[in-house]
Formats: sequence, structure tokens, C-alpha cells
Amino acid sequence: MSNMIKGIAASAGIAIAKSFRLEHPDLTVEKQTISDKDAEIKRFEVAVNQSKDELEVIKKRANEELGEDKAAIFSAHLLVLSDPELLNPIKDKISSEGVNAEFALQEVANMFITMFEGMENEYMAERAADIRDVTKRVLAHLLGVTISNPSMISEEVIIIAEDLTPSDTAQLNRNFVKGFTTDIGGRTSHSAIMARSMEIPAVVGTKAVTSTIQNGVMVIVDGLDGDVIIDPSEEVLAQYRQKKDQYEAQKSEWAKLKNEKTVTSDGVHVELAANIGTPEDVKGVLENGGEAIGLYRTEFLYMGRDQLPSEEEQFEAYKTVLEKMEGKPVVVRTLDIGGDKELPYLNLPKELNPFLGFRAIRLCLEEQDIFRTQLRALLRASTFGNLKIMFPMIATLDEFRQAKAILLEEKDKLVANGTAVSDSIEIGIMVEIPSTAVLADQFAKEVDFFSIGTNDLIQYTMAADRMNERVSYLYQPYSPSILRLVSMVIEAAHKEGKWAGMCGEMAGDTIAIPILLGLGLDEFSMSATSILPARTQLKKLSKAEIASNKEKILSMSTTAEVVEFIKSNYMN
Ligand code: PEP
Ligand code: MG
Repeated sequence: MSNMIKGIAASAGIAIAKSFRLEHPDLTVEKQTISDKDAEIKRFEVAVNQSKDELEVIKKRANEELGEDKAAIFSAHLLVLSDPELLNPIKDKISSEGVNAEFALQEVANMFITMFEGMENEYMAERAADIRDVTKRVLAHLLGVTISNPSMISEEVIIIAEDLTPSDTAQLNRNFVKGFTTDIGGRTSHSAIMARSMEIPAVVGTKAVTSTIQNGVMVIVDGLDGDVIIDPSEEVLAQYRQKKDQYEAQKSEWAKLKNEKTVTSDGVHVELAANIGTPEDVKGVLENGGEAIGLYRTEFLYMGRDQLPSEEEQFEAYKTVLEKMEGKPVVVRTLDIGGDKELPYLNLPKELNPFLGFRAIRLCLEEQDIFRTQLRALLRASTFGNLKIMFPMIATLDEFRQAKAILLEEKDKLVANGTAVSDSIEIGIMVEIPSTAVLADQFAKEVDFFSIGTNDLIQYTMAADRMNERVSYLYQPYSPSILRLVSMVIEAAHKEGKWAGMCGEMAGDTIAIPILLGLGLDEFSMSATSILPARTQLKKLSKAEIASNKEKILSMSTTAEVVEFIKSNYMN
């Protein structure tokens, strides 16, 4: 097949729809001198009116699909576009200085944004954010470029992008976005992880989709084998429709285990949990028979917006998740921003090595207002279900102690104010930095649980960027070096009577599952769609039998040896 591009299978399933190129156009403005000032003012007014028409359409759609709450933001944008206090100074600038509309708009808007942001008042900060958004929209019209806004999509499409930021991904409307494919990224980049929790088929790291696929072309995304097929013939379409049906049939087979516990052939129960990014993902967890939520990546609440979420907004999100899980465990991870997850509105300086930089708990311990707000929201929500809190990127015991002390301080303050807070919240850490894995015996004395974050643990142990396709050969979950670290962490936890889970992608990997079972992992947390296949697999495995080979596996010398052993002994 000539019109096929190979990539990395990032999210299972087959999607067939027209392509939609998601582009972030260049909105750079240059100052120009204008001779016909009246015509320039007219040009500005036309752009404003076009933006208003566009916003009316988006508002209507948002109202229908997302509800009035979410649509309110567009009403605010429309108000900004009718505000003479903003529009008149722009027109005045064009006529008094003879500058182009783009330049006048940007100058005046920036002046208001700086003024509002400096007021340290939440309402004003929101106004600054509105002006920033509206300015982009009007600028795009003036410059004659299109802003392809993922939340504006209103027909079934497959997104074609160089890369999808986590915030782009968070805005995708799953009713319309049937699949996506990108030039860059790997299986553990966050857009791939989110695609799995949103159950959107995806192929990433293709290197070529944006240079090959135009807008509006029929595309097939095969997230099972990592293929993207462009403009398929009727015959190929029929073939993939059949493959899609087969996959659906396989899913129905798995679904039969939805309400069963995960018990191995020798009668051992392990917990199969899900990783989520938003409260909406809980639906998929329940539909896929998740016994718990092993990782709630709260940072997505902070993304795709222009300012920090308020305590109230966070409280509502955490409460919703806890309530929907009806008493099943919910492990919420505190903010893990940094690495590939940026928050532009925090205005953090660019770093040379963002994955090794000022991120996650490091940022939270310094920006304590942000951290404390989140902790308060969590503590207040704790009475609505079975909440466990964990801190990301812990590298030293001191960091854990500081984070825990802050959590307890906030708890005491709430209790002193008469707010109900659960007394049985477990406090754990992600083990995703090698120093912590090596020192797990010491950590185990102080934490309530470990959750091994192999996405990062592997990249830090192998010194191989998880986002970089060129070093992906080093990204080896089954390397004996990784397995020894994982085993040390599990043993350390058990020695202190604590539990050890894993929430990195490795936990749902078919080759890793038998090994992890044999090493004694208690909880496997994965993309919701991996739960039922994992349950099917685990039911056929004997924990005791694999455990009897533990030393043998851990003393192997290469990844290939491990894979060969597992494939020939524990996979059909
Ligand atoms: C991990 O590092 O394994 C993990 C689960 O966290 P994240 O993928 O969000 O970095
Ligand atoms: Mg991590």
C-alpha cells in the first residue's frame, strides 16, 4: 500500500474519518505606517465583526454540547468585543498615529492585560485572559490566518498535527474527534496517554503526517498496528471496517469480565486500577471494570486555560471523581506540571532540561500558594469517597516530609475551622526517580504506599528522553536494571507492611504483567482500555509459579533474554 505512513501505536482502535489539520498559526505583528486611516479603521471593524459572528456560533455549540457554564466564557468574549473602552483607544491609535490595525490592537490589548494582571484580583485576571483570547481571534482575522481551535470542531474528524500539547488534547471533543495522528511523540508522551483514557485511537511519532496529509482527506488511523492510511480505496476501507468490527467483537469478549475481580489462576487477588486525567474519564473506568483509580493526573485541570483553577473548582472536580467511584480507592496525584506539561500563564522561564527541572513537587514546595490551594480542595473533598493522596517526583525524604507537613498543616487549619476532613487518607509517593527507588527501604517507613511511575523511572534510569523517538531503543521497560529497581521498591514496601502499585504505562503492558505479578506488585494502574485485556491475561497466570522464577528473571543480563523467557513461558 503506497499511501500508508508508519508510526507508533499509541491508543488502540480503528478510526475512519476526514482529516482536520490542527495548526497554531504565526500571529506575529509588525508595525506599519498607514496612509488611509479610515480604511484601516474599517478593516479593524470588519475583523471585530467577523470574530463576533464566529463567537456566536461557538457559543451556541458550546451551549448545546457542554452546557451553559462552559459557554459563559464565550459570552464574556463577546462582551469584550463590544466594549468601547477597549475598541475606541485602538481606533484612536490608528487615526492619531497612522499605524496598522494589528499593531494598534496588540499595543492597546497588552496595556490592558498588564494592567488587569497587576491587580492581583481573580476577576480582573479573568478579564486579562478574556482580552488575550479575543485579541488572538481578531488578529487572526486581520492577518487572514485561521486558528484551528479543537473545541470548534463540529463534524467527525481525524486530527493531523505536528504534536498535540496536553492542553490541545484536553480540549478535543470526543463526539467529533474520532482519532489523531502526529509527527512527533512516543507512547508515554502525555497526548498519547490522554488519547488512551479518552479512548480515541491514535498513532504518534509518524514524522510525516503533517507534510503528507491535506485537510479534508479520508484517513484511517489504525491504533492497533500504528498505521495511518491516506485516501484509502473502497477495498482498503472495507478491510479496515472489518478490522474495526473484529476489534469491537474482541472488546465485547473482554467486557464479560467487567464485573469480576482480578484473581489469578492460583487465587491471588490483584487490584486493577485506571489512570485518569479528568472527571469525565471516570465513565470509561467504570465501563472498563476498573477496581480503583490508581492515578488521577490533576495537572489537566490546570491546562487549556489562562489562569489557575480556584479551590472551589478543584473541590468540585475531586468530589465528582470520588462520588462517581462510590467508595472505591482514588489515588489523586498533586500537581505535576513541568516536563512536557507546560502552564504558560505561570510564566516560568524556559529550561534547558525541563524533565530534570523545576517541576512537580519541586514547584509546589516553592509556590506554596498553588500547592496549599490544591491540598485544601482535596482535603475538603476527602469525605466524599476513599481518597489517597500522592506526591509526584519525590527525590529525597526531605521533600516528602515537607510536602506531608504542609498537607497536615492545611488539614489542621480546616479541622480547626469546623470543616469535615476524612481521617483515613493514605499519603504516598510516586517512585519515578532512581534515587527514591534505591532508597525505598527508608521511604517505606514513612509513606503509606508507593506507586511506581515507570514512564519517568525508565527515562531517568536509562538517561533516555521519553519523548525522543531517536533514543526510544533505550526505553526498555523489561531491562533487568529496571526490573531490579521495581523489585526493590515492592520488597521495601512489603517489609514495612505497605502496598506497592504501579501507574506507569508498564503496568498495562502484556509482557510486563507476568513479571510484575511474579515480583509481587499489589496494584496495577493503567489506561482504562487496558484493564479488561489485563484481567483476561492475569486470570490465566499463576503468581506462585512466576514468583518461583523471580531470582532467575532478575539475574538475567539483557532485555532480550527477559522477553524471550516471558514469551515462551507465560504467553500463548
Ligand atoms: C510516570 O512517570 O510513570 C507517571 C505515571 O507519571 P507521568 O506519566 O504523568 O509523568
Ligand atoms: Mg511521571
